[in-house]
Amino acid sequence: MSTRISTTAERGSVPSPPPIPPTCPNCRQGLLWKDTRAEIRENDEHHWRWWCGNCSKRFRPTEEHLRRFN
Ligand SMILES: [Zn+2]
Repeated sequence: MSTRISTTAERGSVPSPPPIPPTCPNCRQGLLWKDTRAEIRENDEHHWRWWCGNCSKRFRPTEEHLRRFN
């Protein structure tokens, strides 16, 4: 992605801009939010799902998502 904001990217003290959440692959309108509620957690403490703010569907994050959004 090439969505860097120059005002914050130029500063040495800021490591990286906050990642932009992906768009829902189901309805293609809603943004996906991290759902970290206890009932959907599996064995892993850091496990979470995407939750669409528009259609309320849940998605399993990819490996890249886990790295970028944890
Ligand atoms: Zn959706």
